[in-house]
Amino acid sequence: MKILVINSGSSSLKFQVIDSESEQVLAKGVCERIGIDGRFTYKTNTGVSVKEPVAMKNHKDAVNTILTTLADPEKGVVKDFAEIDVIGHRLVHGGEKFTGSVVITDEVIQAMTECNDLAPLHNPANLVGVDACRELMPDTLMVGVFDTAFNQTMEPKAFLYGLPYQYYEKHKIRRYGFHGISHKYVSQRAAEFMGQNPKRVKTIVCHLGNGASISAVKYGKVIDNSMGFTPLEGLVMGTRCGDVDPGALEFLAKKENLDFQQIMTILNQESGVLGISNNLSSDFRELKDAEIKYNDHAALAREIFAYKVAKYVGSYAAAMNGVDNIVFTAGVGENDSDIREEICEYLGFLGINIDEVKNREQAEAVKISDGTSRVNVLVIKTNEELEIAREAAAVARQVAEKK
Ligand code: ADP
Repeated sequence: MKILVINSGSSSLKFQVIDSESEQVLAKGVCERIGIDGRFTYKTNTGVSVKEPVAMKNHKDAVNTILTTLADPEKGVVKDFAEIDVIGHRLVHGGEKFTGSVVITDEVIQAMTECNDLAPLHNPANLVGVDACRELMPDTLMVGVFDTAFNQTMEPKAFLYGLPYQYYEKHKIRRYGFHGISHKYVSQRAAEFMGQNPKRVKTIVCHLGNGASISAVKYGKVIDNSMGFTPLEGLVMGTRCGDVDPGALEFLAKKENLDFQQIMTILNQESGVLGISNNLSSDFRELKDAEIKYNDHAALAREIFAYKVAKYVGSYAAAMNGVDNIVFTAGVGENDSDIREEICEYLGFLGINIDEVKNREQAEAVKISDGTSRVNVLVIKTNEELEIAREAAAVARQVAEKK
């Protein structure tokens, strides 16, 4: 099957075409600055490369650009749109309604729209991409793959806040956890790489990118995830604050005369390592360069980041009563060997020993713990698009079987 994977944001739309049998990426690219000045980037596995301005006044124009290019006799990878069997859409928030991937129908769109309140920045943008594809490819099977679905196995003891229960009942205020597509892919890839049965291992996945989250995956099911009602909770991130005492926010609002919206902007966009480093950077590479030049704030930002990751890993090892695999993934997790080393130093009590040479190796998957380590520590490149393609293909097979 040929699967078109779509990740639609408010002004950008990323895509890949994946052959589900060989799991090869046939083409990939991104439409950026949709509704502004429009930029299109595209590459195929046969060496075609396009980078050009293309006017795209909305997402429908963007999808149209993608489809036309994919079926172009010179640049394309299919002869006809009909060769695309399924479109897999990345959908951020499925609330409690979606515990797995689904065929996108009018009812699903209605149910998702009801979740818009829970993810006002992401869900409407995802749905615009879905609408554009449905309009242009009305006969193609569309599958929704949710970032929250893999985390839906969390039990009430993990997902409920210490708030009056009525607010969960009335408004579904609870912890949902995010990055589920990545946590699923990486935890399963880790077991595969180690030759383990995923249903028999306890894995902690550290997805450390600009947005960062940690999950505890016990016997194939998420039992906890560091993100909460929104992707703001948990770790200190690029620009997001992570866990903060709500009492401090009321105090800050009063002292600085800020309203709720202004506070939320600070927490989402001006905090994290960017805020701690006194606005120096949210990029870990720049912070490392600054740390080398004795910038104390950059050093502090990286130190706080690593400390917080280690604390979550320790608490998840307790939550699972043990851990077999700890996996680092995403931009920082995959590339920053110094941060990995720093985090693992805190974890000596788990019997973790890192092989310094292996820790500096670059590969799709590598075990960086040495032969004496009681826990396997791995670095695995995440591949959310492949996970979406796998989910979409699985749903398509189920649909075909029912016919
Ligand atoms: P997101 O998908 O959340 O935007 P990514 O997983 O792409 O995030 O990670 C982006 C972050 O990865 C960047 O902000 C940068 O700090 C970090 N990063 C990328 N490459 C390196 C590197 N070589 N060393 C350290 N950090 C890196």
